Amino acid sequence: MEQQIHMEYAATKKEKPNAADLQFGRVFTDHMFIMDYTEGKGWYDPRIIPYQPLSLDPAAIVFHYGQTVFEGLKAYVTKEGEARLFRPEKNMERLNRSNDRMCIPRLDETFALSAIKKLVGVDKDWIPTAPGTSLYIRPFVISTEPYLGVAPSKQYQFIVILSPVGAYYKEGINPVKIAVENEFVRAVKGGTGEAKTAGNYASSLKAQELVADKGYAQVLWLDGLEKKYIEEVGSMNVFFKIDGEVVTPALNGSILKGVTRNSVIKLLKHWGIPVTERRISMEEIHQAHLAGKLEEAFGAGTAAVISPIGELAWNENQMIVNDGVTGKIAKQLYDTLTGIQYGTEEDIFDWIVEVK
Ligand SMILES: *Cc1c(COP(=O)(O)O)cnc(C)c1O
Repeated sequence: MEQQIHMEYAATKKEKPNAADLQFGRVFTDHMFIMDYTEGKGWYDPRIIPYQPLSLDPAAIVFHYGQTVFEGLKAYVTKEGEARLFRPEKNMERLNRSNDRMCIPRLDETFALSAIKKLVGVDKDWIPTAPGTSLYIRPFVISTEPYLGVAPSKQYQFIVILSPVGAYYKEGINPVKIAVENEFVRAVKGGTGEAKTAGNYASSLKAQELVADKGYAQVLWLDGLEKKYIEEVGSMNVFFKIDGEVVTPALNGSILKGVTRNSVIKLLKHWGIPVTERRISMEEIHQAHLAGKLEEAFGAGTAAVISPIGELAWNENQMIVNDGVTGKIAKQLYDTLTGIQYGTEEDIFDWIVEVK
């Protein structure tokens, strides 16, 4: 039976930021969604309430052992003022896969999506309208049982918050410098790399901090066992164009299954551009570069959509990719994906879900 979402409107509304001041994830809307779980009772009491702090027991499991998962997607508004989501059912599917990995009870995906749509509808006037801006949606689950034993929590909260975000590229899509990470790893097979769970991001901070000091935007992560094979770039999936063919690391258990990654593969296939998911070594990329066959490299994820790589540093090798400018495929993917999201390109794959 579909549960009724209880609605409590905010008595006062916050002032909205100017489009020009929008950053990422700093400002939150007037409302939030929250729902509880207790073992034996299941998920209950879904409600939209004024955005507010949580009150949790200091012994809540999430604070100590990180039993938690999250998602990230965006709401866009068209020129006509219509609010829409991009493939949100994929995020709900992944939320449950992350839940399974972290021993968190599954959510009803259809209900969770209807809650997100309702919340976005309530705060619809927070979706910024300037080009490239959007409303970032952050669903997450936390373990709230007060218990210091290492065991799955018997209580949880599923929460959704919204944040208006600025255009990722303020001066047009721009290539970044990336350092290949030889010491630290993001994930290993058998670990939690495939789940969107807090610990993966906490453990990535050190490597990111060290390369940022040397002027790199992100690290390129290698596999955790041999440190030979490419996994991801920062918190994005990664693609290379070598001698006319686009390649991306095959999902191997330690790579996050990106919605953008899947969309890129579908578009490339639709355009008749060869695309292969397989194991790719850093040595292969280096050899392709030496042979003049490394034509493009780019990351793919919800935040940036497509992030071209202009330079790759690996040991003593500085590899400049496509003269350090955005490649043709990266640009075409960026324009098409954002066009579909903002409603200026035809939604040929039925990816768009309207928020009524
Ligand atoms: C979220 C995420 C991605 C990209 O996933 P999208 O669904 O495309 O946003 C890729 N890698 C990591 C590690 C991520 O956390």
